[in-house]
Amino acid sequence: MTDVPLIYLDNGATTRTDTGVIDAMVPFFAESFGNASSLHRLGVKSRRALDQSRQILAHAIGAKPSEICFTSGGTESDTLAIRGVADATRRRHMVMAATEHPAVLAQQEWLKRRGFTVTLVPVDANGRVDLDSLLECTTGDTALVSLMHANNEIGTLQDLARIGPALKAHCPGVLFFVDAVQSFTKVPLHVGRAHIDLLALSSHKIHGPKGVGALYVREGVHLGPQLAGGGQEGGTRPGTENIPGIVGFAEAVRIAMATAQEDQKRMRSLRDNLIAECLATLAPVELNGHPEHRLCNNANLNFPGAKAEILLHMLEAQGLLVSSGAACHAGSRKVSHVLQAIGLQVDRGTLRITLCRHTTPDEITRALAILKTVVPEARAMGGA
Ligand code: PLP
Repeated sequence: MTDVPLIYLDNGATTRTDTGVIDAMVPFFAESFGNASSLHRLGVKSRRALDQSRQILAHAIGAKPSEICFTSGGTESDTLAIRGVADATRRRHMVMAATEHPAVLAQQEWLKRRGFTVTLVPVDANGRVDLDSLLECTTGDTALVSLMHANNEIGTLQDLARIGPALKAHCPGVLFFVDAVQSFTKVPLHVGRAHIDLLALSSHKIHGPKGVGALYVREGVHLGPQLAGGGQEGGTRPGTENIPGIVGFAEAVRIAMATAQEDQKRMRSLRDNLIAECLATLAPVELNGHPEHRLCNNANLNFPGAKAEILLHMLEAQGLLVSSGAACHAGSRKVSHVLQAIGLQVDRGTLRITLCRHTTPDEITRALAILKTVVPEARAMGGA
């Protein structure tokens, strides 16, 4: 099994760090290791790299550099946005979509302990939130609405440009928080145009290093810090800055933005080809998520008659690495909260196949050949 060439189509989970990114990071581990708060030349060099990185991030989302707060990743950015608002507001209600990432949904317990009520907005069968239903969930006591841009499992995109302005008009004083971890650099996004107040980003989904992310905090929005310490990141996120990680993240953003349009087009075309071939040759097959308003690199497919866990392991044995949509522990047939929210109750052999900008036509051809062998074999072993 070890000498089977790998086809990595699990880029929604994480991506390979680009060599250009690693090259940009290395000097900041070695000769330029200074603390960005130090006043000597090594400190100044790190501070300069930090400032430049902040500019690159800000430019990519239409923000000011002073509105970018570096964090340890998407999970921390989600936590800082939600808990930071909770600690700085008198309001006691929040709204979240039912399909949010666990880093958002898992905040509910903490919020409830602080006296908040949380309303979960349902999604339609394609995973989209209905604007009127969302507005109906808000009240004068709503501090924050949390809505992810692209869903990490089914790839469905929310219509932020329509929702943001409508939300602000309907519910004055509410803050709009968007988790853009999956969509960043794959879908154009301008924080001002979508009336976004807080935006979570992560580096490792875009060929940057793991353990680094950012939170856009619109000027004028106050967050209670969730760590106690020095005054780094304007006091919002104390702790010595991870300069190599931040430099790597910024380099990943710079590389991704330079060719974003061509990359999106190529990924979409390869992904469409993959879906079309699966539908044509492996029937019955169902596509989860919105048929058009979806991430360009995401195919989330049900292969009824097969069990997801079995499919996953059989595909891996052939060298194809993807994700399943079911809880992957022995005997479990429970599907994820996202699949449940779009109406799936039991394992229907769901696979999440996610491409990246380096995915080649040859890899898709080989992946399809493997699927065409494995799916019938897995179906022969039984499933829903
Ligand atoms: N939000 C979304 C939508 C994600 O897909 C992920 C990662 O899977 C996260 C948040 C968490 O990001 P990180 O892995 O950087 O903590």
